[in-house]
Parts: sequence; C-alpha cells; structure tokens
Amino acid sequence: MPKKHQPFKFETRALQSTKNIINKVHAISPPIYLSSTFERNQEGKYQDRYKYSRNDNPNRRTLEKSISTLEYGTTGFAFGSGMAAISAVFQSLKTGDHVILPDDVYFNLKLLIKDVFNRWGLSFSFVNMSDIEAVSHALTRHTRLIWIETPSNPQLKISNIPGICELAHAHQILTAVDNTWPTPVLQNPLDLGADIVVHSSTKYLGGHSDVLGGCIILKESGSLEHQIRSIQVQMGAIPSPFDCWLISRGIQTLHLRITKQTENAQKLAEWLYDQPRVNRVLYPGLKDHPDHAIAAQQMKGGFGGMLSLLIDGDEIQTRSVANKLQLFTQATSLGGIESLVEHRKSVEGPESKTPDNLLRLSLGIEHVEDLIGDWEQALR
Ligand SMILES: *Cc1c(COP(=O)(O)O)cnc(C)c1O
Repeated sequence: MPKKHQPFKFETRALQSTKNIINKVHAISPPIYLSSTFERNQEGKYQDRYKYSRNDNPNRRTLEKSISTLEYGTTGFAFGSGMAAISAVFQSLKTGDHVILPDDVYFNLKLLIKDVFNRWGLSFSFVNMSDIEAVSHALTRHTRLIWIETPSNPQLKISNIPGICELAHAHQILTAVDNTWPTPVLQNPLDLGADIVVHSSTKYLGGHSDVLGGCIILKESGSLEHQIRSIQVQMGAIPSPFDCWLISRGIQTLHLRITKQTENAQKLAEWLYDQPRVNRVLYPGLKDHPDHAIAAQQMKGGFGGMLSLLIDGDEIQTRSVANKLQLFTQATSLGGIESLVEHRKSVEGPESKTPDNLLRLSLGIEHVEDLIGDWEQALR
C-alpha cells in the first residue's frame, strides 16, 4: 500500500502545487503574468486593480505606463499590432465624420480605409501634407481628425506638426501622429501640439523583429480616453503578456539602438548622395531635402534610421542592386537591429504611387563602414 502523503488526488495536487507563490521575490527582470484571470477575496472584491486580462494585465500596465511617460502623454494603450491601434483611433469616430490624411500615408492604412472604414460611412481626403495650404483647403464642416505621418513612408516627406496642429485646433479638430519612424527619442508630437500619438511597436520599440504590437498615447484624459479604453477592452485587440514583456524589454535599449541607427542612416545617406548610380537620396537629414529645416526644428538628435533612394535605372536594374547587397536582407518591416532593404513598389502592388526605382532601407546597428562597403560592391 503506497503511503498517503496528502489528502488530494494527483490532478488536484498538480494544480495546488503550481499555484502562484512568487509574487514578491524582488526579481530584477519582471515576471510575465500569463494569467487570464485574478482571484477575488471573500467579499467578492479584487485585492488590486486586476480582474481579467482582456481588461488589464500587469505586463500590459507596465508597457502602457512606459509609452505614455516616454511620449509625455497622460494615458497609454497597448494593442496587438500597429494596425489595431490605428483602427481604434478610427473606431472612435462616428458615421459622417471626415478625416484628412497624407496622400502617401502608410500603405496598409489606405487598404484599411478602402476595405473597412469607407463602408462605415466615414469620408476621407488624401492631401499633400507637406503643404499646409492643401490641408487647409481640404477642411470641411465634418472634418473631425487630421492624420499625420512624418517622416512619411517610403518617400520621407515631412509634415509640419506644429503648423498643422495649430490649424486643426482653430477648428476644434483632433490631430493624430503616427510616430513609428522617429520614435519618442527623436520626436514628441504631443509636445508639438498633437492630441494623439500612434506607434507600431513592432518596429523600433520592440526593436528585434520578434514581436507585433501597437500603441496609442493621449495628451489629455477625458472622453476620448474613455472611448479608446472601451474600444481596447471590449473589442479585445490586445497584446499578450509575453508580447508586452518583449516590447517593454525593447524599450530599455531603444535610445541606444535608434541613436546608432540614426548615425548609420545619416552617414550612408551622405555617402550615397555622391554616387553616380544613385539619382536621389530621400532623407530629411540631407541639406537638400525640401523640408530639412522643418525636420530639424521638430525632430531632435537626428532624422531617424530610415532612408530611401532612387537608383539610376528601371525596376529590373533597381532590384538587381538589392539582390547584390549582402548585409541588407530583403524583407518587409523595419526598426530591428539588422539592416533591411525593400523594393516597396512590388510590395505595395499595382496601385502604389511609389517610384519603380525606389529602394527603402531600414538601418541596423552594424558598423557603418561595413554597410557602406556593401553598397560600394552592390553599385559597382
Ligand atoms: C508597420 C507600420 C504600421 C503598421 O503596424 P503593424 O504593427 O504592422 O500592424 C503603421 N504605421 C507605420 C508607419 C508602420 O511602419
């Protein structure tokens, strides 16, 4: 007869023996709270703020506090992807509302509008956002939101954030800035007058090409905050605790990475500028960029880790340059520690307005002399 050790059967003991007893071990790296639900006490109350992880979770809370601090906002919201965060902003609008966006806005946002939000009775104007007059002309009685993305993807056009925000506020219109590319290290839109900041945390915040995420940061608390919170919690496009943990970890080295990536982009842009096989380099850190002065005013510490260039040649010649690169991997996405190159036109498809000879680069943290050497052999 086996000795009786405990009153419970194996299945019960398996659960009892693995209950969380490690709340207070003072670990330096935070634990990951995978728990979907949290215990009530005998009065039916919760011991602290956590009830159910769609509503709130300690790892998500850490990330949301972090991004709202870094963007100088009052509230942060984390989502399962950048597109989910962008969608939440549009879902806070109502039928009949009108939105102004850049004509070269992030390509998937165009698809989202075409496939989903047009059907919801929102209306949209796409304008050249580098031209404040054009924004002003697009205003209607129903305009509720101006969407800004600067530097833009993939042509690195610059929009004047303070100028557009001033115009918007004179008409009681909200402004949202997609700050994915510059990151809060190089640009703080809420300080420049914007109401809403959005990120794809998949890119620089995560920083290692191993997690998807998005976030929204609001300048003020109030009715928009409550709307976004209910969209996040009721619609449930939330990130997992592990994803929040990864993005929080990425944020710890964001400043180091983007500083190095920005230095690499500036140096490579200057080198490419002098190459005969390169027609144009699109980078706001170059003096001949049409909006270099505006970028220098609203960005600080550099112009970011992304640049595009136009090859002197057609699509086939352009793609053959990309094929020769060895340190730049051909892949979609950006903001990771490794350098990437992409022929955007073929990714965006036939409706894209991106030039045939454009290559978009996401600079990594490799040594810049190696990156320049790679371009030297590819252009030869
Ligand atoms: C990648 C990206 C998005 C979309 O984010 P996902 O995380 O892929 O959903 C939005 N805006 C910009 C500027 C991006 O680069």
